[in-house]
Amino acid sequence: MALNLIMLGPPGAGKGTQAERFARENGIPKISTGDILREAFRAGTPLGLQAKAIMDRGELVSDDVMIGIVRERIDRADCIPGFILDGFPRTVAQAAALDAIMSGRDALTVVDIVVPEVELVRRLASRLICGSCGLNAEGNGAVSGTCQRCGGELKQRVDDSEGVVLERLKVYHRNTEPLIEYYRARPTFRSIDGTQPPDRVAAALAAAVRSVANQGSAA
Ligand code: AMP
Repeated sequence: MALNLIMLGPPGAGKGTQAERFARENGIPKISTGDILREAFRAGTPLGLQAKAIMDRGELVSDDVMIGIVRERIDRADCIPGFILDGFPRTVAQAAALDAIMSGRDALTVVDIVVPEVELVRRLASRLICGSCGLNAEGNGAVSGTCQRCGGELKQRVDDSEGVVLERLKVYHRNTEPLIEYYRARPTFRSIDGTQPPDRVAAALAAAVRSVANQGSAA
């Protein structure tokens, strides 16, 4: 049975960090739509250049574009054993499109990472990523540094600046939070406490995924 997983949660909840680790430990690809857009910008493609302006304002790239990107990505052979999506779906229209894409495949496991707003603002203000390769580094209060993977310079994401963070949280509440209601009634929905240390969140995520899988095999 394929491990098809999506992660819900506000910006700063730890989706990227947890998805990265879960993907590595389970041998499935992590599909981060934010990373795909940032990579497209670094590569200078028209999509990347167009998306960059939208991302810098904290707004959402259009559903059609995002659905197209994810459909093409999930269709690749490396997703046969499963995948973990980080940052998609972000709207009910994207979730409905994903359901259509998933028809005939193993059910989605949906994990919502719950973190209160004050903690999110604090985390986003201290988050750093690599300007060259996009690695998501833990901020730990540092304002600069060097990437462990490629030696590039660590920087704050443009969209992690204070004004943009507030807009992203607003967009989250308006467009993405309704997904919790969209998925909540499914037997494959779980929520986990994202305020714990990262290792504990990872353990909670693994336990949530196991409980969904066990319930599937018991049915
Ligand atoms: P993230 O790295 O997931 O925080 O995404 C950064 C930015 O990329 C978001 O604020 C959006 O502008 C854009 N983005 C990423 N994923 C999506 C999506 N599924 N739908 C629309 N916009 C997205």
